Amino acid sequence: MSKPYADREVWFFTGSQDLYGEETLRQVAEQSQEVARALDASSDVPVSIVWKPVLKDSDSIRRAMLDANADDRVLGVITWMHTFSPAKMWIAGLSALDKPLLHLHTQANVELPWADIDFDFMNLNQAAHGDREYAYIASRMGVARTTVAGHVSNPAVTARVGTWVRASAGLTATRSLRLARFGDNMRNVAVTEGDKTEAEVRFGVSVNTWGVNDLVAAIAQVSDAEVDVLVKEYEDLYDVVPELRAGGDRHESLRYAARQEVALLALLGDLGAKAFTTNFEDLGDLRQLPGLAVQRLMSAGYGFGAEGDWKTAVLVRAAKVMGAGLPGGASLMEDYTYDLTPGDEVILGAHMLEICPSLTTSTPRVEIHPLGIGGKEDPVRMVFDADPGVGVVVSLADMRERFRLTANVVDIVPPRAALPNLPVARAVWKPRPDFPTSAEAWLTAGGAHHTVLSTAAGVDAFEIFADLTRSELLVIDESTTARGFRDQIRWNQAYHRLAQGF
Ligand code: MN
Repeated sequence: MSKPYADREVWFFTGSQDLYGEETLRQVAEQSQEVARALDASSDVPVSIVWKPVLKDSDSIRRAMLDANADDRVLGVITWMHTFSPAKMWIAGLSALDKPLLHLHTQANVELPWADIDFDFMNLNQAAHGDREYAYIASRMGVARTTVAGHVSNPAVTARVGTWVRASAGLTATRSLRLARFGDNMRNVAVTEGDKTEAEVRFGVSVNTWGVNDLVAAIAQVSDAEVDVLVKEYEDLYDVVPELRAGGDRHESLRYAARQEVALLALLGDLGAKAFTTNFEDLGDLRQLPGLAVQRLMSAGYGFGAEGDWKTAVLVRAAKVMGAGLPGGASLMEDYTYDLTPGDEVILGAHMLEICPSLTTSTPRVEIHPLGIGGKEDPVRMVFDADPGVGVVVSLADMRERFRLTANVVDIVPPRAALPNLPVARAVWKPRPDFPTSAEAWLTAGGAHHTVLSTAAGVDAFEIFADLTRSELLVIDESTTARGFRDQIRWNQAYHRLAQGF
């Protein structure tokens, strides 16, 4: 089975020193290759793990880190001190490293050979203190890293390594991400604003605006033959209502939606953009607000934010990459309306049109309905219910001196009745730990109304992603209490201001 990040690598570095002699260093090399092979063979680890020769001095460590920086295939590096490795030799290398770092604290053997253990064994297998020496210098230098402890045969260990790989892939994706905005933000909205320059510093994303009529011009270039192919695909893949099918009264509306999809793909391709935004207040000469086209592009891995919300588009793109190959998906989402039955509250999430069908395993219906906003022709959209299961909603807000990610772990549930009159795709969820704690915490955090809902990448991946991008992360889950959350916000406020330096 090919790995989800087949064109990427993670390099495995083993630390030692020259004191131990040839025989021990040969064993260090062999056993560290076995550890790297075990990680590489694990289905939890979605990338090739590439073992590198054992590192024994400062110059070679620095060179190895610089090589990792320079190679675009490399998502990050794993370090493990099989033996003692005096940590001053790691200073230059750790200073130079510009890729995500995972400190794997492991050992070649699972059980100790209690009856046979001698001092040769002790000399060879000393990660217990070798890794402590290494971690000291990393902590002293303030090196950001993820630490995972345990034997590589333990699925909990490979799962955590896999999550770090996914977060590193998310960072790699945002570092090269170009985001095209068609029009500006929705007028007067606060939370969708943000510092685009700081976003490029933190996440690497380049955010720029194009006039919506660039998209209109691209639509004019689309050939009927291209539209024919796509309409056929819609009719094969989805449950297209009769009025939109070939021969139906409103077939032309479906053809126009297909035209929008072809044009968006072409234009984003020309721009090298893997994320984009639209704004219903700024549609120029577009005939419909793009609905189906946006849903289709999200399901193909593009990030998207509505109403010019480029920050949420970044999150959707990151979630797409972090969740690659996992069951479930990721979509723009908006907390829309509530069922406030005491003790059994649920949130109905949806958007005007733009919910990604990666959230469902059912066959979406393609429908056309009026949109009471924007003053354009009725837009075509996919309609479905998100699959029940665990998900996480995450918002990204600009708190001026930092970006704040707010995440809530949720349980997606079926709607309590069929929703025959609701003409949009939707998800219904119960937030953890319960509705009042979740909603009060979310509002205390100032989390946005737009989120990414991810059912593939989980909260653990976002946690590492937040670390890698030096963003604040506030998690609301089963362990959240109102008091603890409020305190955490206060402490974070102080921490993030101090962490900026003076
Ligand atoms: Mn919205």
